[in-house]
Amino acid sequence: MLDQYDQKFKGLGKDSPFQDSPVLPNMLEGDKTIQFRCHRDIKCWNACCSNIDITLTPYDVLRLKNRLGISSGEFLKQYTFPFEMDKDGMPGVKFNPVEGGSACQFMVPEGCSVYEDRPNACRYYPVALLSLRNSDEFVDRTAYALVQEKHCLGHQENRFLTIDDYRAEQGVADYDEKSRGWRQLVLKRKSAGPGIGRPPAVSNQLFFMACYDLDRFRAFVISESFNNTYEIPVEQMAELVADDDKLLEFAFAFLRHVLFNEKSLVEKDGAYEARMERLKTKTEAIRQEYLANRDKIEDEKYCAPPGQPGDCGCGTND
Ligand code: SF4
Ligand code: SF4
Repeated sequence: MLDQYDQKFKGLGKDSPFQDSPVLPNMLEGDKTIQFRCHRDIKCWNACCSNIDITLTPYDVLRLKNRLGISSGEFLKQYTFPFEMDKDGMPGVKFNPVEGGSACQFMVPEGCSVYEDRPNACRYYPVALLSLRNSDEFVDRTAYALVQEKHCLGHQENRFLTIDDYRAEQGVADYDEKSRGWRQLVLKRKSAGPGIGRPPAVSNQLFFMACYDLDRFRAFVISESFNNTYEIPVEQMAELVADDDKLLEFAFAFLRHVLFNEKSLVEKDGAYEARMERLKTKTEAIRQEYLANRDKIEDEKYCAPPGQPGDCGCGTND
């Protein structure tokens, strides 16, 4: 099956996702043997952490903010910057390097100061995890690729092991599992095809909060308006308040419910109607505001300031 993807990308030429990339254009399976070893005495020690471009998964954020003992909001502000993962503005976050430089804020001479909680991309390197999904398939597939950058001398070391063994050594299984829901959401949005216009800003805001700003999402989940809408058993609510892992899992289910209408949550009787009513009221308020301002907007659009060419004398731009 991987051959099918391999052939697909090879045939793309300049449209290949691996164009100008150090990622070898091969889809590899877990039993593929690679040659690699990274160790403290290697000449390129810390080279990879000195020039970073690391996309964080929601589970990376969770682990790091707990490691540092700060809230998700504080972590995002100090250690990340937001970016758009697709043309529809799907929100992602990347590591913010040190001020005025390109090195990771967690890099120290000894290596990584958050090693036990380092992000999944750091664990995988120089292997890249690829999640794939054909538009006519309902399941995502996992494959790997090898990243061979000139500065990384680990590829010349005399050690051979399979990608599966390397994954076990780096402890990625838990990370892969805990961010699986996020990868599926990302793939689903990407494979949904072009919609009419961009998704409403509120969808992207919800996606950002639920995936990355987990402490804010928790406050949202215990809010009155959330509990007036969704049927959450008391035991489950207690778990969501106390357990970040459970809350993240719930966040993905919530996003599947609101973004893809997957009915992964139970709504209270009348909640849908109440939501529609609120939406109607809001839409009507926006319409009224537009109507009230329409003449002014039109005037501002066409009338030049007094004394300028195009001034009709209406005084709009006085
Ligand atoms: S988190 Fe650690 S391993 Fe990852 S880039 Fe930063 S210093 Fe390197
Ligand atoms: S061998 Fe590669 S991964 Fe290890 S320190 Fe050098 S550049 Fe980084």
